[in-house]
Amino acid sequence: MIILALNCGSSSVKYSLFDWARKQTLAMGLVERVIAGGSFIVQSVPGREDFRLEKECPDHETAIDLIIRTMTEGPAAVIPDISAIAAVGHRVVHGGERFTCSVRIDAEVLEAIREVQHLAPLHNPPNIAGIEAVSSVLPQVPNIAIFDTAFHQTMPRHAYLYALPYNWYERYRVRRYGFHGTSHLYVSKRAAALLGKASCDCNLITMHIGNGVSHCAIRNGISIDTSMGLTPLEGAVMGTRCGDIDPAIPHFMMKMENLTPDEMDNLLNKKSGVLGITGRFTDRRDIIQAARQGDERCRLCLEIESYRLRKYIGAYLAAAGPLDAVVFTAGVGENSWLIRQMALQQLQHLGIHLDEQRNREAVGGGEKIITGDGSPIKAFVIPTDEELVFIEDVAAILDGRYAHHMEFTYSFARPDFVPR
Ligand code: ADP
Repeated sequence: MIILALNCGSSSVKYSLFDWARKQTLAMGLVERVIAGGSFIVQSVPGREDFRLEKECPDHETAIDLIIRTMTEGPAAVIPDISAIAAVGHRVVHGGERFTCSVRIDAEVLEAIREVQHLAPLHNPPNIAGIEAVSSVLPQVPNIAIFDTAFHQTMPRHAYLYALPYNWYERYRVRRYGFHGTSHLYVSKRAAALLGKASCDCNLITMHIGNGVSHCAIRNGISIDTSMGLTPLEGAVMGTRCGDIDPAIPHFMMKMENLTPDEMDNLLNKKSGVLGITGRFTDRRDIIQAARQGDERCRLCLEIESYRLRKYIGAYLAAAGPLDAVVFTAGVGENSWLIRQMALQQLQHLGIHLDEQRNREAVGGGEKIITGDGSPIKAFVIPTDEELVFIEDVAAILDGRYAHHMEFTYSFARPDFVPR
């Protein structure tokens, strides 16, 4: 069974083609500058040189057609023809309250995704465009939706409701949804396997720290709270997003600098976070290097980011505890021993005993424990694999083996699973 995974953004389409029987990625690629003009495709195939072709894609349908042609014809082909593709999995950012797990897309599901697009006006419309484009280019192939929000739909009301006029929730469904669901799902199942426990017996804090950053409090294997909210802007300090701030600040700054609501929104999403603090960097590697060379603002940025991580650990320890483990994942979580060390320092009183040597050695891949042997609460570094969750959901839905992620046994939940 060959599965095409698609992630359609407003001006890009990322894809990967996966052979389920052989458990191997056949090709990965990206069409950039869709609609914007100057579009091109880049495709990587293991053992081959990258393939690049410039071709105008004025819409998502042309981009998807280009992807299909690249995979099936000419020098970059990896499958003989489109009939080899058994299904297409679509990343859909917002599933609102309706979608609590991955689903096969039909007219009614597509309409329901449309109904919640006001909650993610930048993300859901291109996701919908991708679904419509595949339906037109590959009309016989089943489409499956995998939602960023679905894993967090187990949160209780007291965690997802804001202290705002209640009718905002009733009228517009203003509430916490949370994102990065497939990543939190994957690393929480892996952590349970590393602990030698059933997932439903584990209490965890999972920290996805990349450009986007979100944390999840997991009790008995399910999400009971998460740091991102109605949108991905809430929570931790991120690459360019501010995370938690006094909600009065936007109004104050709009008056001070005569900003429109859209300008304010752009500043909080694109010019804040570690970029805002340092004034020049989003990549934590640049920040760490500059801090080592004595840049005060970069040093301050590391202190702010790691302090906020520590505060979330404290808060979620209270929410999810008694805790089994804290898990670090994504670009920063998997690779930056320094940020992990700064976040976990002096937490012995909470039962987290960092082993500095293990932590320094846990970089560049592999699942590692970074606390000392006697630590009551463990800390792990676990490389995330969102693609695998995606592919397993699609394969299981096609086979009729999946009703809901909570009742489904993923391959990576098994103790003998070997990460890719
Ligand atoms: P996203 O998918 O949200 O774009 P990633 O999970 O790929 O982000 O993480 C990207 C970030 O990971 C980069 O911005 C960089 O800051 C960080 N990163 C990667 N490697 C390292 C490293 N060795 N040390 C510190 N940060 C790193």
